[in-house]
Amino acid sequence: MAVSFTEVTKRFADGTTALDGLNLKFDLGEFVVLLGPSGSGKTTACRILAGLEHPSEGRIEIDGRDITNLPPRMRGIGMVFQNYALYSHKSVYENIAYPLRIRKTSPAELDRRVKDVAELLQIGSYLHRRPSQLSGGQAQRVAVARALVWEPTICLMDEPLSNLDALLRLHMRTELNRLHKRLNKTFVFVTHDQEEAMTLASRIAILKDGKLVQFDDPRTIYRRPANRFVAEFMGRPAMNTMDGMVENGVFRSGQVTCRVQCPDGPVTLGIRPEQIVLGGDEGFAMKLDVKETVEPDTLLIFTNDKGTLTVRTQRDCDDLAPGQSVNIHFPPDSLHYFDAKTGERLR
Ligand code: ATP
Repeated sequence: MAVSFTEVTKRFADGTTALDGLNLKFDLGEFVVLLGPSGSGKTTACRILAGLEHPSEGRIEIDGRDITNLPPRMRGIGMVFQNYALYSHKSVYENIAYPLRIRKTSPAELDRRVKDVAELLQIGSYLHRRPSQLSGGQAQRVAVARALVWEPTICLMDEPLSNLDALLRLHMRTELNRLHKRLNKTFVFVTHDQEEAMTLASRIAILKDGKLVQFDDPRTIYRRPANRFVAEFMGRPAMNTMDGMVENGVFRSGQVTCRVQCPDGPVTLGIRPEQIVLGGDEGFAMKLDVKETVEPDTLLIFTNDKGTLTVRTQRDCDDLAPGQSVNIHFPPDSLHYFDAKTGERLR
């Protein structure tokens, strides 16, 4: 029971390659988040799965069945778009009922399903309203209800939360999580917000330049990024990465120096800001440049001639002031090693 993209390439008429041999396979019932920088091919992958775009090359399968040439209506996929795309002249009830009307569902069954899904999404008391009489969050729920009412195998959502304000976004995130657990349907969700991806996904597919660069659960993506790109992309503030040289088991890059477990030669070392230890006798000294407190954390930014180093700490930093020299230590277990040329993870 799986959905698979095999060597899917999409070239648009103007020559843009939006997907470049994408291989991605996930199980039905998963909450898959497509994440990547702007232009990485997330929306294109979604539209190809829904049948709204045709791949230039490659194959899409659901449950072992090749659906590459199947019309959208026959794929069993419900969609929620960023702008919700509700019919302004129809009531909420009729908006939700629409997919059932085009499938010629009997009136009694249609009424039952619309009311059930409206109940599930807590919009039962707005069924008589028009979309213009709804708040952003309510309209978003109507769009989700319309995508789910006909019980599709897969629900595709392309940045559905991006038009909501920050608080509502957090709330809807929790609701979507709850909805997914309750319905046990496959959700495919597009976002460029990594926090959204981390909280919603059973697995995150990270795309770059139309290719899959890593597909793992959020914890693995954060703790064992497959390459330097993922390491720097996931996590705020970003992982510190330093290009340097290893000689006799000691890494050096500007003032940064630490014992490492990798062969001598060039390497890119990575460490998350929250894993750097301040004070003590081990390590090296660096000059504090900027101190920013965002309770309960303090961000400390150090600079040297090779670049900056960001530390995130919950320790009391009242004793630290910009200009001061601070001792810094990298615990060996917190280090990530990347190939200096290719950026691929070494161990
Ligand atoms: P965003 O986060 O900005 O929405 P995305 O990762 O969803 O980006 P896509 O919308 O899939 O990226 O676009 C991938 C690439 O394909 C981009 O370079 C985009 O400009 C290009 N593209 C998308 N649609 C078309 C089109 N119809 N014609 C030509 N190029 C297109």
